[in-house]
Amino acid sequence: MYDITLIPGDGIGPEVIDSAKQVIEATEIDMNWDIVNAGADVYAKKGILVPDEVFKSIERNKMVLKGPITTPIGCGFRSINVLLRKKYDLFANIRPVKKIKGIETPFKNIDLVIFRENTEGLYSGIEVKEQEDEARAIKVITKKASLRIIKEAFEYAQKNNKEKVAVVHKANIMKLADGLFLDCAREVAKSYPHIELQEVIVDNMCMQLVMNPSKYEVIVTTNLYGDILSDLCAGLVGGLGLVPGANIGRDMAIFEAVHGSAPDIAGKNIANPTAVILSGAMMLNYLGENKRSKLIVDAVERTIEEGKYVTVDLGGTASTTEMTKAIIQNLVD
Ligand code: ATP
Ligand code: MG
Repeated sequence: MYDITLIPGDGIGPEVIDSAKQVIEATEIDMNWDIVNAGADVYAKKGILVPDEVFKSIERNKMVLKGPITTPIGCGFRSINVLLRKKYDLFANIRPVKKIKGIETPFKNIDLVIFRENTEGLYSGIEVKEQEDEARAIKVITKKASLRIIKEAFEYAQKNNKEKVAVVHKANIMKLADGLFLDCAREVAKSYPHIELQEVIVDNMCMQLVMNPSKYEVIVTTNLYGDILSDLCAGLVGGLGLVPGANIGRDMAIFEAVHGSAPDIAGKNIANPTAVILSGAMMLNYLGENKRSKLIVDAVERTIEEGKYVTVDLGGTASTTEMTKAIIQNLVD
């Protein structure tokens, strides 16, 4: 029996979280869902953005599956997502990007994992308005945070027999901040002599990724570059509806899709549930439930390959609930 905090979130969140919950339950796992909510919806109803019960539940269970949360402007918070990552020191944002059979892309092989630093960089939250017509955002890079995310990437590469890790930076311009991140990568790489360190400047990386993404296996980078490259890579494999993610700390983890709340398609039962379902599969893997995790991944891939019950973003006509049903059917077959 696992105790899991389930946060539906905003926009398409409740729809796709419900799909993920159903698919996970179809693996006949014993789950005790602790359903709590935070975000714009909760704020509109209760005047509070993150009720205390949410923090309590996360701290009790230490394992979270969450939908996207919108942070309304003027509520006193910058971003709840960033707050949770910082508060619980979830330093590694891990986003696997893999080509799925049945989806047309210009590339045959895409199988890479992005390790995004999750606690500092340009997300430091330090912004100052010097005067009416001048504002500054401070980028914070520390050796401690850089070393641990880079080590995480190399450890992953080692465990999964990857040959290369690409560190993405802009040290030619931000010589001190990105320079420190790059130095940390060189330092960590010394302990992994059999793994090649690829040093790639972020603008060049954008071009490389859209021309020849199979050159890369593992990417490790600072917070904002990681955010941007994740969306770029999502585009390479068929869109934001497909890419899952994990925020991992020392003893706590929050699993969530790369995509946001997608207000443009919310409440219409047309969102692609795949990204959140695969985030659920990542969570099961993390819990050691590798067989069940694989069952889910296989069922999702089969459903997409068959192509009959896929959502509009993938060129189909199925609703969120129809695609979910098809995935569950493929899982139990
Ligand atoms: P945020 O600020 O929360 O990241 P955003 O404005 O970047 O939000 P997203 O919610 O990430 O927006 O969505 C970007 C685009 O991708 C939207 O047009 C949305 O419709 C589409 N999209 C995102 N997620 C999905 C999904 N699961 N299924 C289908 N389309 C999606
Ligand atoms: Mg976004």
